[in-house]
Amino acid sequence: MTKAMSTKERLAIQRVLMPEQDAEQRSRNFTEVNLGLSKEQAIQEAQRCLNCKNRICVQGCPVQVSIPEFITALAEGDLLRSAQILQHDNALPAVCGRVCPQESQCEAKCVHGVKGQPVAIGYLERFVADWAMTHANQLDSAVLAAASGTGRC
Ligand code: SF4
Repeated sequence: MTKAMSTKERLAIQRVLMPEQDAEQRSRNFTEVNLGLSKEQAIQEAQRCLNCKNRICVQGCPVQVSIPEFITALAEGDLLRSAQILQHDNALPAVCGRVCPQESQCEAKCVHGVKGQPVAIGYLERFVADWAMTHANQLDSAVLAAASGTGRC
């Protein structure tokens, strides 16, 4: 079992930059400019979250997504649990992760923003939602296992 990171260690992590197509490339196609985070980038960004007891970021979310919980699961590398938490609260996380104005909602409330940059909640929502779409079989199996009383959900 790995040692839990300290608050100081979490605060020292820089906010991730969203990879994007370069200008020349994107002028020649109609695909998304933002390319999405890699798993390693997403987990590192999730490790910035302080899992605050006062879940102030949730207050900024119109649908009250369990933000600290889905991010903490992601930081622990448990993508299945992270996706389950996210999908429990929001039927369209891949859309919200792309089009919600997080800078004036959840991220505007994040305590990291007091002295630096907020946790990239929108990027993480998009990452987990996209992961869930490509791992639907794992999510379905987890739901079936929970329904039969043999697994967690
Ligand atoms: S306010 Fe920021 S650091 Fe605290 S739980 Fe929410 S996302 Fe994490």
